[in-house]
Amino acid sequence: MHTCPEAAHQELRALYERLDAELAPFRRRCDATGRCCNFAATDHMLFVTKLEAAEMARAGAEPDAAQAAAGRCPYLRGTQCGIREHRALGCRIYYCDRTHEEDRNALYERFLKEVRAVEARHGIEANYGPVTKAYVPAEPHA
Ligand code: SF4
Repeated sequence: MHTCPEAAHQELRALYERLDAELAPFRRRCDATGRCCNFAATDHMLFVTKLEAAEMARAGAEPDAAQAAAGRCPYLRGTQCGIREHRALGCRIYYCDRTHEEDRNALYERFLKEVRAVEARHGIEANYGPVTKAYVPAEPHA
């Protein structure tokens, strides 16, 4: 059973809110094709920390292991994210349109350090892996 302290989840959600606000000037149009979540087709991968993976599991959507094995995000449902409110840093920052990509990458690096600091404060083991392997089974919403 994978658990992280409730306080750590609360800090992560507050951090996501701050990220979303700071990201506003660098957002690009998204046509919701689901292509960016099909890693096998796009030659990139979403990496998540342990706390991020646990937050994704809290959405209550059962991750699809067959999809993960095929190189797609286990939370992709058709062309839509099945856990949008709980999605990870990388999901929030990535756009097919690469305009402002450097600014978004800088935000990613800064916020990833913050996530790791939250994890360290709460004694959560440092782990950073591809979501196709690091996802955890759905947990009941707290
Ligand atoms: S969590 Fe959602 S947005 Fe992120 S890669 Fe998976 S389906 Fe895409």
